[in-house]
Amino acid sequence: MTQDDWGQIKKRLLKTVGQNNFTTWIEPIEVGPLSEGIATLYVPTTFVGNYVSQNFSDLILHELRSVDAGITRLSFKQSPSAAKPAIKTAARPAVSHARPNPMNAAPLDPNFSFDNFVVGKPNELAHAAAKRVAEGGPVTFNPLFLYGGVGLGKTHLMHAIAQELRARRPEMNVLYLSAEQFMYRFVQALRDRKMMDFKELFRAVDVLMVDDVQFIAGKDSTQEEFFHTFNALVDQRKQIIISADRAPTDIKDLEERVKSRLQCGLVVDLHPTDYELRLGILQNKVAAQLAQEPHLVVDDGVIEFLAHRITSNVRVLEGALTRLFAFASLVGREINMELTQDCLADVLRSSERKITVEEIQRKVSEHYNIRLSDMIGPKRLRSYARPRQVAMYLCKQMTSRSLPEIGRRFGGRDHTTVMHGVKRIEELKVSDGQIAEDIDLLRRALEN
Ligand code: ADP
Ligand code: MG
Repeated sequence: MTQDDWGQIKKRLLKTVGQNNFTTWIEPIEVGPLSEGIATLYVPTTFVGNYVSQNFSDLILHELRSVDAGITRLSFKQSPSAAKPAIKTAARPAVSHARPNPMNAAPLDPNFSFDNFVVGKPNELAHAAAKRVAEGGPVTFNPLFLYGGVGLGKTHLMHAIAQELRARRPEMNVLYLSAEQFMYRFVQALRDRKMMDFKELFRAVDVLMVDDVQFIAGKDSTQEEFFHTFNALVDQRKQIIISADRAPTDIKDLEERVKSRLQCGLVVDLHPTDYELRLGILQNKVAAQLAQEPHLVVDDGVIEFLAHRITSNVRVLEGALTRLFAFASLVGREINMELTQDCLADVLRSSERKITVEEIQRKVSEHYNIRLSDMIGPKRLRSYARPRQVAMYLCKQMTSRSLPEIGRRFGGRDHTTVMHGVKRIEELKVSDGQIAEDIDLLRRALEN
């Protein structure tokens, strides 16, 4: 196998794997000696070696065999020339005065500010923690770990922190990026043999923000590098802010030591939105829209209806509103219930509540730790009657069943019994904090 042969093979590989893959993975490979049917391929790092061996080895072997049919296996080895910079990088201390190149920061959305963030019960803790970190004072909790489901405002809060920090403390190096960008940079640095620059860049920030960190789970060497960056910054008492779609303990394929590191600061979650929060967000958006298009009219009840019906995530809610306004603007009509139903038929259909009476009964009996049969059955003990009334109340609120139908499913009770139960809970919700909390919890559990 000559270098020329290898050059030809590379050309063919380029066609098969595409330019991007080629530049990242194949280009840096050099061909080494061949012995006993095993072809040695030199790779810049073990990471690249592992990746290539998992993804392209069949292809490469096939091409090599077309030149030399005696080749039966590939062996990936770190190239001797790549070893040197790695050692230098490790030995060299971080340069603290180097400023990250602004090109390296992800762009921030000016709409994602604290001013535009509506605070409600589900996100008040996350918001308070974000605000505190955005003051840029001495580091109190490190890292701040924000987690929550899709569209609940993690990225919004991260951008808000970054923007506020940049405004308040312009001397600080604030670097915001997604975990995916972190990985991409890391791979690029490996490929270009610029690990030293990479390390310097990250070690020189004052505040590091990494969004959607669940992305690096299972990506072993990226995780490893992230861990080192993380530790180096914590040692220097630099602030780190992380977001993920779930709690550190629930991220699969994340090393234990990384998990425990992530948990040692403050971990706060963004809960699914409740009706009040959705209403607040919508009102804000509507006010902003109306400021731009004052001729538009929004009927009473439309916003409440949307807040009630679209519970999935804020992004969907915003999308619905944007479409509604665009539609109304185009056809020159006021935004009333009819227009809303027309314009958002698909969104409304897909977010239609499919909660059943049985589901509610099951959840409520689990919550109060009583048997389902006791809740539905005739027993009148308070410890059964109260949960029963809670379940009736939720059935009335969350399903489209009528009172007689609900009564039938609760052991054939009369509709007046159901009505009484619903009323009783409505009263208790005001006077009894525990009941209010139970209902809130149950409703959330059912909506998910
Ligand atoms: P995540 O990163 O958690 O998936 P995002 O931060 O991208 O979610 O939020 C999705 C959309 O919802 C964004 O347009 C964001 O501005 C909006 N949003 C989410 N929560 C709020 C809130 N509390 N107030 C205002 N807008 C919000
Ligand atoms: Mg996000």
